[in-house]
Amino acid sequence: MGLSLKKSLEKTRRHVFGRISGLLKQGRFTEETWEELESLLIQADVGVDLTLELVERLREKVKFGEAGSPEELREALREELLGILEAASAPSALEQPRPLTVVLTVGVNGSGKTTSIAKLAYYLKNRGHRVILAAADTFRAAAIDQLKIWGERVGADVIAHQSGADPGAVVYDAINACKARGADVLIVDTAGRLHTKYNLMQELKKIRNVAARQLEGAPHETLLVLDATTGQNALSQARHFKEAVDITGIVLAKLDGTAKGGAVFAIVKELGVPIRFVGTGEKLEDWALFDPEAFVDALLE
Ligand code: GDP
Repeated sequence: MGLSLKKSLEKTRRHVFGRISGLLKQGRFTEETWEELESLLIQADVGVDLTLELVERLREKVKFGEAGSPEELREALREELLGILEAASAPSALEQPRPLTVVLTVGVNGSGKTTSIAKLAYYLKNRGHRVILAAADTFRAAAIDQLKIWGERVGADVIAHQSGADPGAVVYDAINACKARGADVLIVDTAGRLHTKYNLMQELKKIRNVAARQLEGAPHETLLVLDATTGQNALSQARHFKEAVDITGIVLAKLDGTAKGGAVFAIVKELGVPIRFVGTGEKLEDWALFDPEAFVDALLE
C-alpha cells in the first residue's frame, strides 16, 4: 500500500483532509469551526448522515473533556474514522489458500472493472499465484477483446466464448480450465450492464450458481468495482449491485483522480463490507491492498 496509496490520496488530502487537520490544530472550537468541519467532511463525500454522526461524537468528546488538546481531537477523529473501516473488516478469501479460489467481479461499465481485473491478476501473479481470467461479460464483444488484451499483457490465460454466449457456460469452462492447468485463482469478469436491471440480476445469480455447483464455496470472493471519482454516486451503484449479488469486498478504482476519497467511509458504513483494493493510476502496478490504518493516517497526515 505505502507510497502509491499515499500518492493517490493527494487530492483528497490537499482539498479536504489537510484543511481538516489544519482546523483541528487551531485548538479553539467555536460553533463556526464545527460547521466548517461538517462542511469539509461533506465536501469529501463522507455523506451527510455520517458526517453529522461523526461531528456529534467529536463534540461530545470535547464537551466531556475527553478531547481537549488539538492532538487529542485529531486522535479522536482518527479513531472514529478507523472504527468505521474496521467494523466492516473480514478476512479475504484471497488470503486463505485453497486449491482454487474463484473471484467474481461486478460493476458498471466505465468503473474501471477490466483494468482492475488485470491489476489484480498482475498482483496475484507477482505473489506466485497462477491466474486465469474468464470473459463472462458476453454482452459486449468489446469487453471480451479488452480482457484478452489485458490477459496477454499480464500473462494470464483468458477463457472466452463468442459474444452473446451463455456466461454460465464460460464460467463452467473456466473452472475446468483452472483444474486442468493447475491455476489457483480464477477472476471472472461479468456484464456491467444488460437490457434491464432484472436481467443483470438474473445473470449474476446464474453465474454464481454455476460456480457453486462446480466448486465448493465458489465464488469465494465477490468484488464490486466502484469509481472513486463518482463519490456519492458510487454509493447508489453499490446499493443496486448489493440487491443482485452478495458482495464480499469493494475495489475502489481511480482513487488517484478524486478529492472525494471520503466516500470510502460512507460506502463501507452503508454496505458493511471492506474495501479490499484501491486503484491508484492507469498502469498495472497502480494497485494497492487496502489497509484501513494506513488509509486514515495518510488522510490525516
Ligand atoms: P470498465 O468499463 O469498467 O471495464 O473500465 P476500464 O477498466 O476500461 O476503465 C475505464 C477507464 O478508467 C480507463 O481509461 C482506465 O485507464 C481508467 N482507470 C481504471 N482504473 C484506474 C485507476 O485506478 N486510476 C486512473 N487514473 N484511471 C483508471
